[in-house]
Amino acid sequence: MNFSDSEVVASILSTEGYSTTRNIEEADLVLLNTCSIRDKAEQTVRKRLKHFNTVKKANPSMTIGVLGCMAERLKDKLLDEEKLVDLVVGPDAYRDLPNLLKEIDGGRKAVNVILSKEETYGDLKPVRLGGNGVSAFVSITRGCDNMCSFCVVPFTRGRERSRNPETIIEEALQLAYSGYKEITLLGQNVDSYLWYGGGAKKDFEKAGESAKATAVDFAMLLERVALSVPRMRIRFSTSNPQDMEDSVLHAIARHPNICNYIHLPVQSGSSKVLKEMNRGHTREEYIDLIDRIRSIIPDCGISMDMITGFPNETDEDHKETISLMELIKYHFGYMFYYSERPNTYAARNMEDNVPLAVKKSRLDEIITHQRKHSLVRNVAEIGKVREVLIEGPSKRSDAHWYGRTPQNTVVVFPKTNEKAGDLVDVLIEECTTATLLGKRI
Ligand code: SAH
Repeated sequence: MNFSDSEVVASILSTEGYSTTRNIEEADLVLLNTCSIRDKAEQTVRKRLKHFNTVKKANPSMTIGVLGCMAERLKDKLLDEEKLVDLVVGPDAYRDLPNLLKEIDGGRKAVNVILSKEETYGDLKPVRLGGNGVSAFVSITRGCDNMCSFCVVPFTRGRERSRNPETIIEEALQLAYSGYKEITLLGQNVDSYLWYGGGAKKDFEKAGESAKATAVDFAMLLERVALSVPRMRIRFSTSNPQDMEDSVLHAIARHPNICNYIHLPVQSGSSKVLKEMNRGHTREEYIDLIDRIRSIIPDCGISMDMITGFPNETDEDHKETISLMELIKYHFGYMFYYSERPNTYAARNMEDNVPLAVKKSRLDEIITHQRKHSLVRNVAEIGKVREVLIEGPSKRSDAHWYGRTPQNTVVVFPKTNEKAGDLVDVLIEECTTATLLGKRI
């Protein structure tokens, strides 16, 4: 999402005459787009800022700005804490960047962290930043209203709002014309997408009857995008279990160009912990959804996010997480230990009482289980022929291509006469826990 937001910023600044460089020494302006999701993400930003100290010494007229969630969370405190920073801009204030840069020209520092119920950057002409030229991100919602008790996103990215479907389709078409082969529709909670003429999702009830009658939900949007760019692969991220409707599953099943892959974060296998996380679903409801996915979309790749060591998580709760993983055998997953985030419900009301060593050992344990499951899933691919979208050369060997199956598993295979962006059939012959190896047929 930050990658996509950086493209929004590049687009806004390109109309002001700015262009991008890969060489930091020659930059007049350095904007660091930041994440606050875990403390570690913020520490990474702090380290990067230290490095900028050296760069700025060599080029004192360089302007340094901090964008994104850390800007929103810390506001002008960032100017006190990081002396080299000139500019602090939150995720909804990027259109103000040209004005803020003019303020800085006058030798001042500038801050805009106002959150909006309307801003979607929907009409911007996107600028693509150094991607692979094959797959691109298209933002469809901003903000989040879910209020998971551990999560800082609603505080840093504001209220949930959806982008006009016309502008989404237009962007998809532009990408198709420029040769892109895959788009990922992005939102904190894509299933919650709802266009009714603009405004925050929470204000939908106040909308007029005709706006309600013509509203577009996520399944409808997905279908429209799939039909508009039939030769493009369509993916989306992220789904939230409590908001995922069967209509979305049917849309995936109906359209061959919507990939059979769902990233479905669960965060815990214990209903007690899920309730305290305010996830809006139980373990049983989640399993029920997985069953529906498997019956409506046979051959669907499923991945998850998981958090270990949430406040009051017991050994029993942890065992339930493992048993859920054993039951589902995810294709892959992103796993984290709990990091308390200031101002969240959990930080205000619960004690961060699982010792770090326990959080980490539980994390190690679930990672070990996930590796085992990924291997089981990958071994089951051996002997199958998969359609692979080539994204570029393999990082390890220039004689091999790197691509992904519709189920989102990485495939590496020897180059013959293909090029990046080609869709090819690959016979899977071997695998590791993370990668399928094969040959083109
Ligand atoms: N709405 C997005 C959230 C992105 S954050 C989505 O559903 O994908 C990605 C993941 O980070 C979350 O799913 C969760 O597993 C993890 N995460 C969020 N807050 C966290 C916290 N306070 N500590 C540890 N992990 C966290």
